[in-house]
Amino acid sequence: MVKKKVIGLIYHPDFLLHNQNYHPEKKERLEAIINLLHHEKLLTKLQLITPKVAKVKEVRTIHTANYIKSLRNMVKQGKAYLDADTYLTPYSYQVALLSVGGAITAMRMVMKETLKVAYVINRPPGHHASANRGMGFCLFNNGAIAAKLALTEFNIKRLLYIDWDVHHGNGIQQAFYHDPRVLYISLHENPAFPGTGAIEETGAGLGKGYNINIPLPPRCGDKEYQKAFTNIIMPAADIYRPELIMVSAGYDIYHQDPLGHMQVTYHGLATMTSFVKKIANQHCQGKIVLFLEGGYHLQGQAEAVTTTLSVLGNWRRPIKEEIIISSSSIKSEASQIINRIRRQSLPLLLKASDTIYRN
Ligand SMILES: [Zn+2]
Repeated sequence: MVKKKVIGLIYHPDFLLHNQNYHPEKKERLEAIINLLHHEKLLTKLQLITPKVAKVKEVRTIHTANYIKSLRNMVKQGKAYLDADTYLTPYSYQVALLSVGGAITAMRMVMKETLKVAYVINRPPGHHASANRGMGFCLFNNGAIAAKLALTEFNIKRLLYIDWDVHHGNGIQQAFYHDPRVLYISLHENPAFPGTGAIEETGAGLGKGYNINIPLPPRCGDKEYQKAFTNIIMPAADIYRPELIMVSAGYDIYHQDPLGHMQVTYHGLATMTSFVKKIANQHCQGKIVLFLEGGYHLQGQAEAVTTTLSVLGNWRRPIKEEIIISSSSIKSEASQIINRIRRQSLPLLLKASDTIYRN
């Protein structure tokens, strides 16, 4: 009997069609990942899945009909830019639908237990796209759409969404700001694009307490991210007891990334992945869906994605990189911020969980 592969890699060569050579968010990002996995003969360890385009009604769960229509029209008219950062090509609308399709396929396969873990190597990325506006290289919010469909199709009541991209995922925060069924936790550089993601943004209405922002100063490294996990994310997960975990995996936290200013190495990424895996094994039978977001150092990102997959799959692949130690001033600044968020977020989440469980 053929042994079932537990990790799925969701990829489509058409993800490369949305491209602009001189832009950091270009097709070579995915080519570098696939080439490295191929070169190291790791693709054979993965269940390779080719997704289909998402339906407009699926995209409508997060985006307004007006935005979807206007994006389609802009592409049809040959517009080259959605905004100053976000380019369009004649293929962009279809590829954006395919990128969403990848995210939805991954979620459904994990929920139906066809896969334990699904990693979507997709683009364009999604976490900045809000209901009525694409931005920050993102057209549709792949992760938010998949999360919304997990709530409606599988009746998920507690979805933990971790976003470790160096930028705040404003689109995901917005989508679930009033919704206790998604606990959104973002680690991001501050100050940085898009300017949202303050500690005080904790959710509203029934969603109060279910939004945790961890804005960190530039030049934080492995230890600071580890501390955020052990002091905030792990205890929050224990309070929340997720039924499914999603991750916006952005690799612009990598220390050589040209857009981010963090100092995270492959060791840090391996540690973060093992924390996510631990939460998943403890609370939701290992169910994790990961989406690629940013990450603009081509070889660094490819190696980082492979590191994440290696931890998820227990491949015991050695890490060839030195840890970078943060300066003492960064350490102490980050510590203060993390402690402050811990003191605020955990009691708030406990109180909110009490209210929900009583009702
Ligand atoms: Zn980013």
